[in-house]
Amino acid sequence: MSHKTKIICTLGPATESEDMIGALMDAGTDVFRLNMSHAKHEWAAEMTQRVRRQALQRGSHIGLLFDLTGPSIRTGDLPEPFTLAEGDTVEFRKTGSEATVPFSTTVNYDGLMDDVSAGNTLVVDNGALLMRIESVEAERILCRVRTPGTMGSRRHINLPGVRLNLPALTDKDHKDLALAVECEADYIAGSFVRDSAHVRELRGAMKALEGDSQIIAKIEDQEAVRNIDSIIGEADVIMIARGDLGTEVEFEELPLLQRRIVKRCHELGTRVIVATQLLESMITQPTPTRAEVTDVMNATYEEADALMLSGETSVGRYPQRCVEALMRITTRMERTGGQGFGQGVLLREERQKVARAAVTLADSLPDARLVVLTRRGVLANQVAMLRPRTSGFYAVAPKESVCRKLALTRGVRAMKIAFSSNIEETIRNVSRELLKQDLVRTGTPMVIVSDIVSDHFGANSILLHHA
Ligand code: PGA
Ligand code: MN
Repeated sequence: MSHKTKIICTLGPATESEDMIGALMDAGTDVFRLNMSHAKHEWAAEMTQRVRRQALQRGSHIGLLFDLTGPSIRTGDLPEPFTLAEGDTVEFRKTGSEATVPFSTTVNYDGLMDDVSAGNTLVVDNGALLMRIESVEAERILCRVRTPGTMGSRRHINLPGVRLNLPALTDKDHKDLALAVECEADYIAGSFVRDSAHVRELRGAMKALEGDSQIIAKIEDQEAVRNIDSIIGEADVIMIARGDLGTEVEFEELPLLQRRIVKRCHELGTRVIVATQLLESMITQPTPTRAEVTDVMNATYEEADALMLSGETSVGRYPQRCVEALMRITTRMERTGGQGFGQGVLLREERQKVARAAVTLADSLPDARLVVLTRRGVLANQVAMLRPRTSGFYAVAPKESVCRKLALTRGVRAMKIAFSSNIEETIRNVSRELLKQDLVRTGTPMVIVSDIVSDHFGANSILLHHA
């Protein structure tokens, strides 16, 4: 099935069987995500094998994404959950210090007391509990509960607007990164990336392990939003992580932020993922809410590269129906058209200008296909960012790993075909393959863009060929 907006599914207990993984591929999944906050190493390695095996059976270039936990602040281990009423006092203290009130827990970040001040809001468990920080001491902070609820062990804590001095990567992240490299992950995501130095640190650590994955920067708080341009400049892909971002900013700001970031990613030529709660109600229900349909429609209209499912497919009751729902909504919107941010891409390199000319040509010819010959995938991504209208957009690369790294790029279908020593022969091979797969008919116009002409001659070229 041809679809432009790519689909990322998070694997979990609901979807770990190999049959289910294959079924999700058949339904339209392009990339599988392993959430290292929950995944054990043995399990992640096993999932990698299942995904690769199923992809191989189908001859499809399915991507694998390892999502690192990152430096998140969590409550400590509680003997049993606290039941909290409005007005109760809760203490968060350094490890090793004494509790001074009945509701007291340690936190996994000793620097917390230095970063926060009285009056700050503290959010537990993605908004399930809201508190106000009343006092800050060297060893502890005391909070007043503003909304009742329960607080369990190792719950995630957000501090909207607070600048935290957490490291970019924890010890656990380094271990998870090593596994990701060993599994030849196509994408590695860094959580709570706050500036471009964090992205560089993650990429450096990955390179030091001789990894070759693409780096995704998850935008999850206000500081990342402030540094968005430099983060976009450093990362291969941006993820708008609406779960955490939605608790870190006023919720009415979230749709505007999403739109602004998607637009900026287009301008700066970096791929972008919209993540979290796209079909949240389908964790328990077989059909999406009207609001969810509209949200998915909106992200597709903005022409994001990919949409990500989390709990919907990791623990939900209807993982396959979720992928089918995404396919139905996105392909419907794609037929209508999109926002057109691709028109605003800043053409900074000569190659991007060649790409623009090729897209303009392909869009002006009825029923034309667009073919990019790409060794490392860079040219294919540049062409994709211009959001060509044709539904026949193919990237030809000689390496499987390059094909997989195009799995979350909007609109493009990667094909693994070896390059010949001259471009005519390569084009003949591509043409033959497209005819064989019924993707073109004899005579279909093909706009071919490439930065290689032969083994000995590099030049940007646009060719108009008929299949
Ligand atoms: P998470 O990231 O699922 O790892 O928390 C995504 C988000 O915060 O939206
Ligand atoms: Mn998150």
